Amino acid sequence: MRRFDYVRADSVEHAVEALAAVAGSRALAGGTNLVDLMKYDVATPTRIVDINKLPLRAIEETPQGGLKIGALVTNSALAWDVRVEARYPLLSSAILAGASPQLRNAATTGGNLLQRTRCYYFYDPTMACNKREPGSGCPAIGGVNRMHAILGASDSCIATHPSDMCVALAALEAVVHVVGPEGERTIPFADFHRLPGDEPQFDNTMRHGELITAIELPPADFGRNHSYLKLRDRLSYAFALVSVAAALKFDAGSISEARIALGGVAHKPWRDVEAEAMLVGGPASASAFGAFADRLLAPAKGQGHNDFKIDLARRAIVRALTQAAAGTPQSQTDKRVG
Ligand code: SF4
Repeated sequence: MRRFDYVRADSVEHAVEALAAVAGSRALAGGTNLVDLMKYDVATPTRIVDINKLPLRAIEETPQGGLKIGALVTNSALAWDVRVEARYPLLSSAILAGASPQLRNAATTGGNLLQRTRCYYFYDPTMACNKREPGSGCPAIGGVNRMHAILGASDSCIATHPSDMCVALAALEAVVHVVGPEGERTIPFADFHRLPGDEPQFDNTMRHGELITAIELPPADFGRNHSYLKLRDRLSYAFALVSVAAALKFDAGSISEARIALGGVAHKPWRDVEAEAMLVGGPASASAFGAFADRLLAPAKGQGHNDFKIDLARRAIVRALTQAAAGTPQSQTDKRVG
């Protein structure tokens, strides 16, 4: 039995104070990942700060024309919000491609960003794992690594980030609002998650005592030309081997803006804005999409069992961009069955 404090926060200030006061404290929202990790003895928090009573369940319009999503908005409420469906269908379809309806009803927007890798070794406390126990080693390197990273990995860790929602948020250039002992700050989505480097125990750039309060979506106009394509071992309730969030804008028949984020391939949603610029001003053609995929995947490196992901990713990128350009997103099929 592991003992921990339980604190039910009645305000954001109270939550931050309670989180900051104790090393090893963790916020509890939907608990769909944290509680599992505690059962497996992978997470051993000293204090649980229950934030479910906090007023963070609203989706509000921003003065700039975007949306500000409270950290406790559930994945389901967000995916089916009429404004999200109309203005950010890429986000809606990415959310609906993940987990199960029951989990989406409980899981929160803030918690989705903080879910941890599904590396098999990470979940097995009898195995070494640099992310769980820094310095102990990484048995996935040279071990069973079918699900693991092909981009941005290090000699310390080759884990992937498991979220679908975050892949769409990366493409939409969301902003994360956090509050901590030193006040409020915002973190651009590209800077929120981090690559493993030699400190794979840190998944993101949040500081001790900080709490996510909201995710802000800037105004976007990708309603027509988008696609979230998720490739996995079974049709539902499985993490991505490769996923692609693709969003395009057109001007007089040429691409005027391109956003492409990959999931299932790295420690964070993967984007290359310089590669995206290659597509701007050109036609939506298979050759242009193929050249883009080649550029994006140039630094990709297989780990053995996951070598197939490099070719899979290339095909997925071309397919998702083709769907986005045609206005026939993969997600429409997902929504009918989901
Ligand atoms: Fe641990 Fe990362 Fe290696 Fe998996 S890939 S065993 S999470 S260090």
